[in-house]
Order: sequence, then C-alpha cells, then structure tokens
Amino acid sequence: MEEPGYRRVLLKISGEGFSGKGGFGIETEPLTQIADTIEQMHRLGTQVGVVNGAGNLVRGARLSEKVGLRRFTADQMGMLATAINALALQDALEAREIPVTTMAAANITGVCDPFHARHARQALDDGRVLLLAGGTGNPYFTTDTCAALRAAEIGAELLIKATKVDGVFDRDPEKHPDAKLYDRLDFRQILRDDLHVIDHAAITICRENRIDVIVCNLMSEGTVSRVVRGEAVGTLISNL
Ligand code: UDP
Repeated sequence: MEEPGYRRVLLKISGEGFSGKGGFGIETEPLTQIADTIEQMHRLGTQVGVVNGAGNLVRGARLSEKVGLRRFTADQMGMLATAINALALQDALEAREIPVTTMAAANITGVCDPFHARHARQALDDGRVLLLAGGTGNPYFTTDTCAALRAAEIGAELLIKATKVDGVFDRDPEKHPDAKLYDRLDFRQILRDDLHVIDHAAITICRENRIDVIVCNLMSEGTVSRVVRGEAVGTLISNL
C-alpha cells in the first residue's frame, strides 16, 4: 500500500452534508457520498476520525430563538442530534465492512461509547474509523471547535473541513463567479480579516497545536487521494 502523506486526519462534516444543501434530515445520496469518501481514506491507509455537525436536524441558537427554549437546552438537543447523524454514518460504514468505533462526549449508554482520548487513539491504531459524536459536550460551542479540539486530542496532523465549494474564497463564489480562491492562508490572516471559514476558536486551537487545516470539496473526483497524499488541494491554512 502507498504511504499516505498524512497518517492521521480529522474530518469535519457539517450536518448539511447528510441532507443536501438546505435540506432537513438524512438522505440516502449524501450519506452514501460521505461513506464513499471515508471509505476511500480508510482504504488508502489513512487513520480517520470524524466529527459531524447537526445543522440538518437542530441548530441550538436558531431553535432557542424560534421556539423560546433556553439556549443550553437547545444546544443539548443539537449535541444529541450529532449522535443521530453519527449513527447513520456508522451503519453506512459497517454495511461496507469497515470497522467503526463511535464515541460520544456525553454518556449515551448502550448507543455510543464514552469519549476517551486514549481509547480513541487506540481505536485508530487498530485500523478503525472513529466517529466522534455529541460535540464537545458543552453548550455554546460548535462542531468546528469540537473538530479542532478532538484533532488535538487524537494527535491528528490535519483537520479537513469538507465544504460544498472548492476552498476559501475572497467572496461568496455562489454569488460571485469571479471570486478568487485562496491556495494558502495563514491562521493569523483568518483571525485578522475575520474570515468566516471555520470558527475562530477552532483556528486558535489548530494554530497553537500546529494542526494544518484544509478546506476543500472532498466530493469532487480524485480530491480525497490528493489530500491524504499531501498534495495541494483547496485552501491550506497553516502557520506561514
Ligand atoms: N453543539 C453544542 N456544543 C458543541 C457542538 C455542538 O452545543 O460542542 C450544538 C449546537 O446547538 C449546534 C448543534 O449542536 O448548533 C449542531 O452543531 P453545528 O451547528 O456545529 O453543526 P453544523 O453547522 O456543522 O451542521
């Protein structure tokens, strides 16, 4: 097997990845695409940890405002919703005979294992795909921040933020066809220019722990293998 450029990566998938853009719930095609992507990484010999969001089911801040729930309650619902997506992904991967361990930040006994950094590292060393559900376990956080935190805890060299577009642009590429794609960005530039690519808390954790971040569209042909081989794809954010 060819040596991958990155040995261990943390993949962040937003909830929308499970439903299709602007959709609600979990749909077959997007779920299959996510499973295909993870299967490719796994078969290329890369150790993969996955943090998923839940915007396709519950976004705490929005739900709290809309329904009048207290924010911490709505966020707890959001965190539970991440576990719902993770279970769907677990099933899709196991149907392909890929060994999976699913851990959650909060105890969901009988459904997910509790998160434990050392056990998580062991599962990866054993060749298992690691699904990390339940966010950080704390309200007022996002799954981007959780992805950075878990990347640091499991010793990932790279955090991949999967997006629908090809990387980070100077303007919204869906509204401005002439938007310019950044090949490389410095962590400091994201913070200084207030670029909304990934949460600033996540950027700070990655910067301090020297974890590279790649923002890219993993679903486009050939991208997965290029990313894990360490080739230039999408936008690479690092300490320049
Ligand atoms: N959430 C939380 N703490 C965390 C991670 C997530 O409270 O550490 C809740 C929060 O309500 C959030 C929801 O879970 O809105 C779903 O996560 P996120 O919005 O990050 O999902 P995505 O945008 O990636 O689909």
